[in-house]
Amino acid sequence: MKRRQRVSVLGSTGSIGVNTLDVLGRHPDLYEVFALSGFRNLSLLARQCAQHRPTYAVVPDRIAAVELMAALSLLSPQTEVLVGEEALSVIAAHREVDIVMAAIVGAAGLSPTLAAAKAGKRILLANKESLVVAGHLLMQAVQDSGATLLPIDSEHNAIFQCLSKVNDPAVVSVVLTASGGPFRQTPLAKLAKVTPEQACAHPNWSMGRKISVDSATLMNKGLELIEACWLFNLQPSDIEVVVHPQSVIHSMVRYVDGSVIAQMGAPDMRTPIAYGLAWPERIDAGVAPLDFQALSGLTFETPDTERFPCLRLAADAMALGGTAPAILNAANEETVAAFLAGDIGFMDIPRINEQVLVQSTVNPVIDVAQLLAVDRLARVTAKNLIEGV
Ligand code: NAD
Ligand code: MG
Repeated sequence: MKRRQRVSVLGSTGSIGVNTLDVLGRHPDLYEVFALSGFRNLSLLARQCAQHRPTYAVVPDRIAAVELMAALSLLSPQTEVLVGEEALSVIAAHREVDIVMAAIVGAAGLSPTLAAAKAGKRILLANKESLVVAGHLLMQAVQDSGATLLPIDSEHNAIFQCLSKVNDPAVVSVVLTASGGPFRQTPLAKLAKVTPEQACAHPNWSMGRKISVDSATLMNKGLELIEACWLFNLQPSDIEVVVHPQSVIHSMVRYVDGSVIAQMGAPDMRTPIAYGLAWPERIDAGVAPLDFQALSGLTFETPDTERFPCLRLAADAMALGGTAPAILNAANEETVAAFLAGDIGFMDIPRINEQVLVQSTVNPVIDVAQLLAVDRLARVTAKNLIEGV
């Protein structure tokens, strides 16, 4: 019998992390949890440890470690608590690990994802920001080590399912579908006044707060455009973005013979997670079957880049190349955090993101240390502009 695959879940307390543990919990014969990581929600992390009995749990600092250890002494005494950013790379690259779910949000996920890539793991990539910041380095590390990189972002997972081979000359374009977010029909004049709660109330998907705001600004689709370029070796001009408000078609591939292959399903992240875990097989994900009778219709629209400039900004950053996507990503993480904190308005997000990109120097990418320095500098520039609002 094949031995169980050992899984490290980076960001287990988040939306993707919780869904991952749900799928893993359905298949105790196939998978065992090797390590978990959390940042703030320690009581959830403790409960996850009690249920999944990992060898390691990672927290950001010593205070969190003391709190978690106290809870685990009763709940899961065999779990060892590790501390800090480097510990994330340890559980990502550990020789006993087979599969790494990269589900930390933001550029904070880059270093452990790279560590998993260098160690040749099967990486289930939810953390799209790591490809946006360091696409070239991450893809190179995967190639050098023979790691397997499987996209979990629903659109990229769909495209992966629709492609029959890599670099297929018969592919004409990739069609990224976008839900359009909660403000798809909100007039430009009203967008400046929308609240974080409205922005986080996504019509189809339940997600973390940062990606929810990104979906509302369409920056998420912009980040996904960059992500698709790296994953599938495409240029931005090879990618069409289509607004599809029902989120039933998760993306499509257009072929030279006129065929368009689409992947469909209920909007539930457990489908791409299960696909990544089991690929090239399939396993039950606990997802409700798609009910065609209940669908009112499938509709398609062109995205409005006047109301949602972030989509165009991301395409511009990708075309500029080098460190430009890393600069835009860092600016966006800061503006989204400021919007969620009530410090700036919704339309300040694209405005400040663009200003940071214009004010920063773009250079060719050298290494991770350079990219992390670029990330820090762009955050300072963004914070100065945020203070001026
Ligand atoms: P979330 O906010 O719900 O969870 C984020 C996780 O990262 C949490 O476990 C948190 O503790 C951890 N974390 C946050 N900051 C950290 C830091 N500085 N250091 C270490 N850990 C940290 O986010 P999410 O919705 O689960 O999204 C996670 C990633 O997956 C994001 O990159 C997002 O773009 C991507 N993604 C999410 C969805 C979705 O449906 N939620 C879909 C596609 C892609
Ligand atoms: Mg997506």
